[in-house]
Amino acid sequence: MHIHIFWDSQSPAGLQMPVKRLISSILGVETSVTENPVRIMGYVTARKQVDAQALLDSILAYKRLQQITEPVLLVVHQDLFRNGNSFVFGLARESVGAGVVSTSRLANEYYGRQGSDDDFIERIAKEGAHEIGHLLGLPHCSDQECVMFKPDTLDELDRKKKVLCPSCREQMDLLLNAG
Ligand SMILES: [Zn+2]
Ligand SMILES: [Zn+2]
Repeated sequence: MHIHIFWDSQSPAGLQMPVKRLISSILGVETSVTENPVRIMGYVTARKQVDAQALLDSILAYKRLQQITEPVLLVVHQDLFRNGNSFVFGLARESVGAGVVSTSRLANEYYGRQGSDDDFIERIAKEGAHEIGHLLGLPHCSDQECVMFKPDTLDELDRKKKVLCPSCREQMDLLLNAG
C-alpha cells in the first residue's frame, strides 16, 4: 500500500517532507509527496471557500485519467466547506480513495497566535493521517486522543496525539494485511 500526497503549490512551502514523514509514522504506511497536478475546482467567490466535494470529484477525475488506484490525499491552502458545514478541516471519500485537507485553519496565525512551524506540521499531519485513515477503511473513534477522533475545533485537533489508539491500530493492521 502506497499513499500519494499531492501538495498544492500555494500550500506552505518547505513543510511537505516533515508532514509526509509524520503521516507515514502515524499510520505505518508508505507515502510519497509531489506537487499537486489536480485542478482546484469548486471555488465559491461569495464564501471565499472551496467546496470540498467538488475537489474530491476533481481528484477522482485525475485518478481515473492517470489510472491511479492507490489512495490520494490533496493538501490545499484554500479554506474548505461542505454542504451543511460552515467549514471543514478535511474530507475523505473512501469509495474512490480521495481525500483533501486544508491548511487554512491549521496555522496559529489564523487565530491571532504566534506562528510555529512545529504546530503547523503536526496539525497538517494529524488531519492528513485522519483522512487517509478513512480512505483505508477506518471509521471515527471516540478516544479523544486518537488520530481517528473527529475534531470540530483546533483545541480538539491539538488534543489528539500523533498515534492511532490501540483499537484503531489493530483495525489498521488488519486492513493493511487484507489489502
Ligand atoms: Zn473523519
Ligand atoms: Zn482510535
